[in-house]
Amino acid sequence: MTMRASRYSIRGIVERHSEAAALLANAGDCAIVKRGDTQRQLVMRCPDGCGETLSVNLDARSGKAWRIYERRGRWSLFPSIDRPTGCKSHFILWHGQVLWCDLGHDEEPQELVLTEPDRILSLLAAGPADYVRLADQLDEIPWDVLTACRRLVRTGRLVESERPNYGIFWIPKPGGPLNRS
Ligand SMILES: [Zn+2]
Repeated sequence: MTMRASRYSIRGIVERHSEAAALLANAGDCAIVKRGDTQRQLVMRCPDGCGETLSVNLDARSGKAWRIYERRGRWSLFPSIDRPTGCKSHFILWHGQVLWCDLGHDEEPQELVLTEPDRILSLLAAGPADYVRLADQLDEIPWDVLTACRRLVRTGRLVESERPNYGIFWIPKPGGPLNRS
């Protein structure tokens, strides 16, 4: 049985991949490769304990890219890391915690910072949107926005919907407060 890390930490921000790899000691250790103003890669010792070093592209000019966010001294990554090979781990890095996707979809970090519902509702009053677009508009972490949207669904203020080629998106509940003038 492997030892899974429940937390990760950024050990440093360096210019070269080899320097980043040299900073990794334990499962969940990370380093950011940054040149000039551009974040290039997140280099990580796989948090599931398999010992492999993962390189996650952060530069959209080099193809499919993840985004990394720093808020209140903690880093979060979006989207999840879903390894197609090797240990085949699937996890989320969110507010300093490793959340394992095979443990269910409702896991949340202990230090959750929810996006304010009113900010989401006022944007959605202009039209439906998915949480990634909402997060961009609000300058928030997509996971925080997604969690806030799900809570608004549970309290009856938003409706979750799905459209081909669009994915899941949210609209204000018909007849809800936003639809009354
Ligand atoms: Zn692994």
